[in-house]
Amino acid sequence: MKLSRILVAGLFASTMSAPLVAQDLSQPENVGRPGRLDLLTLEQKVANGQSFHTHQSEPVEPFRILGNIYFVGASNIASYLITSPEGHFLLDTGVQGMTTSIKHNVEALGFKMGDIKIILSSHAHFDHIQGHAIMQRLTGAQVFALAADADALEAGRDLSPLGFEGWEPVKVDRRLQDGESIELGGVTLTPTWAPGHSPGCTTWSMDTQDSGETLRVVFFGCNGPNDGVQLINNPRFPTLVEDALFGFDNMAKLQADLYLTGHPQVPFEGIEHLMRVQVRPHPLLNQQPWAEFIAARKQDFEARVRAERDSLQQTTP
Ligand SMILES: [Zn+2]
Repeated sequence: MKLSRILVAGLFASTMSAPLVAQDLSQPENVGRPGRLDLLTLEQKVANGQSFHTHQSEPVEPFRILGNIYFVGASNIASYLITSPEGHFLLDTGVQGMTTSIKHNVEALGFKMGDIKIILSSHAHFDHIQGHAIMQRLTGAQVFALAADADALEAGRDLSPLGFEGWEPVKVDRRLQDGESIELGGVTLTPTWAPGHSPGCTTWSMDTQDSGETLRVVFFGCNGPNDGVQLINNPRFPTLVEDALFGFDNMAKLQADLYLTGHPQVPFEGIEHLMRVQVRPHPLLNQQPWAEFIAARKQDFEARVRAERDSLQQTTP
């Protein structure tokens, strides 16, 4: 099947001097600022959020994707359990209403909630981290995040260009830098920084052992700013275009045998039943190659920037 259109994102990053995404923490709200949400009516905002809280977060049964990586999320919002002999990582906690089903899923797979030691995130948007605080309490795990998203996690507010729903503030136990790997029980996860979608948007990557092979798995988290966000001369994020381009280039440096995303419905379509019965070679090995996938995402973004520039020139006397 064709997997060229995927809706989610992730990352990895280097220590080179990267552009910083501006954050104005002095302002209490995102109201009236140039983000996608400013373009929507209240009714449209409610409808938009409802989809995440209703059908996208519907419970589904968990399954092993490959190696030590398990899907414990909902119908179209991912949560990944990555296990080790010394405790587990949980990558993304979804909207708050998903906590019950994630707990069910972890336990249905035979794992213990109390063995989750580290909670990670793809990016600080409500549909991926709204469950962090309650999950932190249920497991006693530590929350690790790239520094550029940590302020939003702790503030309980969406500080990205999107500026959507908030969440219960959660303490970040460790602020990571681009490329700063973390290790637990012999499993190493590396964050690649790809700002734009959110200031600290993160594409995680790791090796896993599967059917006698070592496979490089990337969790794509960062597809550039949401549709409708002002890209050029955004007053809150004056370097948004450069930041997003840096993010795509940083992700392009990664090697991936296969990749997973935060909204799995499209990429899993037609192959989920095969993954559930552990077909090998792994169905996700037929994805569009990572380099092509990221190049296409970057091209789409550049086209958006050009279109915005053209329309600005048309409206300028
Ligand atoms: Zn998002």
